[in-house]
Amino acid sequence: MERLIFHVDVNSAYLSWEAARRVSQGEPDIRLIPSAIGGDKEKRTGVILAKSIPAKKFGIKTGEPVAMALRKCPDLYLAKPDFRLFERCSKAFMDICREYAPVVEKISIDECFLDLSGTHRIYPDPVALAYTIKDRIRNELGFTVNVGIGECKLLAKMASDFEKPDKVHTLYRREIPAKMWPLPVGDLFSVGAATAQKLRRGEIQTIGDLANADLGRIQRIVGVKAGKQIHDYANGIDPSPVLAEPEEAKGYSISTTLEEDVTTREQAAKVLLALADSVTARIRSDGAKACCVAVSIRSNDFKTRSHQRSLQEPTDISKEVYQISKELFSELWDGHTPLRLLGIALTNITREDVSQMSLFPDEGREKARKLDKAYDAIQSKFGSSAIVRGSSLTSDLQVGKKYKAQMEEKKK
Ligand SMILES: [Mg+2]
Repeated sequence: MERLIFHVDVNSAYLSWEAARRVSQGEPDIRLIPSAIGGDKEKRTGVILAKSIPAKKFGIKTGEPVAMALRKCPDLYLAKPDFRLFERCSKAFMDICREYAPVVEKISIDECFLDLSGTHRIYPDPVALAYTIKDRIRNELGFTVNVGIGECKLLAKMASDFEKPDKVHTLYRREIPAKMWPLPVGDLFSVGAATAQKLRRGEIQTIGDLANADLGRIQRIVGVKAGKQIHDYANGIDPSPVLAEPEEAKGYSISTTLEEDVTTREQAAKVLLALADSVTARIRSDGAKACCVAVSIRSNDFKTRSHQRSLQEPTDISKEVYQISKELFSELWDGHTPLRLLGIALTNITREDVSQMSLFPDEGREKARKLDKAYDAIQSKFGSSAIVRGSSLTSDLQVGKKYKAQMEEKKK
C-alpha cells in the first residue's frame, strides 16, 4: 500500500506564537517589524531563537548572539521566550492535526508528521485536506504553518520546506526529478554544511547529482552509513514509520528545536536552563516531584538519543534539574555534531513529600527551593516575560533582586 504522509511545520514558530498572543490581546503584530525572540536587549546577552521576516532582511540569523544581531539592526525588537506559551501553542495545533490523522508524531515543539495512509475514502483529495488543516490552524490559533505532502517522511519534510509561509506543497515520488533534483545538495534534509562542501568538491552540486551518482562513490566521500542514507534520501527512499508517542506515561517533558543548529556547549546550556525553568515550574505547580531526569538530543536526522539518571531524592528544583541536565548533556553529546533539538523530561513522578522526612534538611536545597518559589510567584503575577534567568547560576541572586524590584513597582 502506498503511504501518505503530511509534515506540518509552524512558520517561525517562536516568533509567530509570541506575535499571535500579542495580536489576540490587541497589541501590534511583531511579525511585521524587525523582531526576534531570545536574549536580553539591555544586557545584550543570549542568542536569537527566532526572527521575523523583516529582521531576516537585516541579515539576522537564528542562533547568533543578540549583540551581533543588534549591530546589524539597532532597532531590533526583542521579546523573551515564553516556553509555556510555546507549549500551549504546540499542543493546540497538534490537537487540530489529531482530529484528522489517525497517527501523529510530534518531532519537535513546532513540527509533526501525520500518517494518512489508507484514508483516501474519507479524504479523497489530500491537498484539500492539507488546506483545511492549515487554514483551521491559521483562523483558530492565529499563526501559520506549511504542510508538505509525500509518500514518506523525507518527501513530506522536503515539501514543507518549499516556499513559505502559509503554503501547501506536494512532493510525490513522481515529482522528485522536477521539484527536488534541481535543488542544491545542501538543501537535502540531513545534509549539513560540511557534508555539502565535501559533496561539492566531489562535483555533486545538486540533489539530482547525488541521486544519480554511484552509491560507492558517495560512500567514499561521506562514509558508508551516511552515504547510503543521503543517497536514499536523494531518491526519495525513507521507510521510517510515523510513530505516535505513548500517552502521558512520559511525566513532564519539554523539548525545543532551533531553526538552526546548536553547535556549542554554551548555546546548549542556555537552552537547557530555559527548559529546566519551564518544566520544573510545571511540576511544582502540580505539587509533584520527579525521581528521574532525562535529556534528549536530536541531530540532523530523525533519530532522538536520550540519557537519563535516577535520583536518590526526588526533585522539583530548577537548579538541580538544570545541573543534572547539563551533566547528562555532556555525557550524551560528542561535542561537535550540530543539534536540532534539545529536551528535558522528568519521569518517575511522585507526590509524596519525601523531603519532609529528611532529618537533616539540606540548606542549599532549601535556598534553591525559595528561589524557585520566588520565580513561580513572579511568573504567576507578571507572566513569564517578567523574568528570564541569566545563563549562569550566579544570577540566582538576580532573580531575587528582580523579584523585589517588581514587587516594589507593584506597590507604587
Ligand atoms: Mg518551523
